[in-house]
Amino acid sequence: MATPTRQTPARPARVKQKRGEGQWALGYREPLNPNERSKKDDHPLNVRARIENIYAHRGFDAIDPGDLRGRFRWFGLYTQRKPGIDGGRTATLEPEELDDRYLMMRVRTDGGGLTTAQLRLLGELSKDYARDTADITDRQNIQYHWIRIEDVPAIWSRLEEVGLTTMEACGDSPRGMLGSPVAGIAADEVLDASGALAEIRRRYIGDPKYANLPRKFKTAVSGLPDVVHELNDVSFVGVEHPEHGPGLDLWVGGGLSTNPMLAQRLGAWIPLDEVPDVWEGVVSIFRDYGYRRLRSRARLKFLVKDWGPEKFRDVLENEYLKRKLIDGPPPVDPPTPIDHVGVHRQKDGNFYVGAAPIAGRVSGGTLVAVADAAERAGSRRTALTPLQKLLVLDVPGDKVDALKAELAELGLQVEPSPWRRSVMACTGLEFCKLAIVETKARARQLVADLEKSLADINAQLEVPVTVHLNGCPNSCARVQTADIGLKGQIVTDADGRQVEGFQVHLGGGLGLDAGFGRKLRGHKVTSDELTGYVERVVRNYLAGREPGERFAQWV
Ligand code: SF4
Repeated sequence: MATPTRQTPARPARVKQKRGEGQWALGYREPLNPNERSKKDDHPLNVRARIENIYAHRGFDAIDPGDLRGRFRWFGLYTQRKPGIDGGRTATLEPEELDDRYLMMRVRTDGGGLTTAQLRLLGELSKDYARDTADITDRQNIQYHWIRIEDVPAIWSRLEEVGLTTMEACGDSPRGMLGSPVAGIAADEVLDASGALAEIRRRYIGDPKYANLPRKFKTAVSGLPDVVHELNDVSFVGVEHPEHGPGLDLWVGGGLSTNPMLAQRLGAWIPLDEVPDVWEGVVSIFRDYGYRRLRSRARLKFLVKDWGPEKFRDVLENEYLKRKLIDGPPPVDPPTPIDHVGVHRQKDGNFYVGAAPIAGRVSGGTLVAVADAAERAGSRRTALTPLQKLLVLDVPGDKVDALKAELAELGLQVEPSPWRRSVMACTGLEFCKLAIVETKARARQLVADLEKSLADINAQLEVPVTVHLNGCPNSCARVQTADIGLKGQIVTDADGRQVEGFQVHLGGGLGLDAGFGRKLRGHKVTSDELTGYVERVVRNYLAGREPGERFAQWV
């Protein structure tokens, strides 16, 4: 007789439950992380009153930590990095140990346009309150450093006198919006989209309903593909519809940093006057369905990745707009990135003149001098670009040469070397608390070195090779979409020492070359070896490419 075997009672089948992502629309209203709690406890836009009524009078030590490291961002304010802390210690210190008692301040200039009066005021504020610092960021902002909390109300008051603001320049909000710096004057634009951008700003910026989003929300609206539209949460790019004429093509879900994703086309053609409504629909989807459980998954790109463009468009049309959108074609990619550097004829016969500061670094004094030079050239308008360049608009033809000479005196070259033109850098170790390596000074040195060491071959670069430097794995300088992307980290040098350096990404791009650079395993370079490395790569490219082959194709 067989020995009876003991039967193990069957366990009930385990149903794998996907944990909630903290989506408000699905009922997850209870804050699931400290940032969400902070926003629920007190709406971040309320912090302005405390800055004006309390902190500016009582000083830095009176600032509530939740405001200092959280809500201040909704008014363009972060603490800057305490000087003297090397990048190797960034990850090992508590946030408060990295905090300086001074602030970084971002001023939004949606679309980048500034009258000469506004530019002059920005320069004067820098000289009065920011130790003459001013960086042009790759989101068309002006960024100051060394701001004292005591001075913030006076700065706001002077900004507002000329129609500028820092409101929602940072934070989980619709940050400064990109627009064509030459809207309305560019001879080749599909349409002038600046009115739509202004209307979005008028209707929605500062409205608390759209100022508590899961994370930052980046917008671009342009009649030209000159606003890195593949890298924004929502983009509207000028396109000619075969039946309906000029309008805008809608993209959603772009973003870099970790888990980079290029924006997805929804295949929808949007008439110019409907752009603000559609923008409201997209930002509302993000607010309601965006993932609020983990900050690392809170950008819109994660939702777009999970849903796909078809479902996203479906929700936009059916739940938010209550109507169908018109199908449309994609925009035409330009043969080379549009940086607006140089002298360009406008529709009205005047010219716009684009100059290249190195990696966006200027100063308050320079901004004032550019405003003066622009006015001497008969202009009243300037603009910042998403590639950290500075333009003077509406210049009569007979004033162009004198303006070019004046700008060159200021270190702003209108016919720059390929390196001055194509190197971008984020804030880096000098002021950023997350940084691991120095970037701005490194970029300046790199440009100076390459101008000398590659002088013999610069003329062969029909299209500049782009070099972007980031101070850490975040991608404020868009490292993954450069020809040579440099992501700051501590590396080991030939003597086994831990020193500042970069992980290299090769062959990224936008437009025709849209895609992320390849991160080659072990492909790292110390900061001191950087010039030699870039020189070798560029010489190899020029020696090995087929005729007309762009860097991203060659890699
Ligand atoms: Fe700071 Fe890193 Fe952004 Fe550079 S990439 S500004 S170091 S967070």
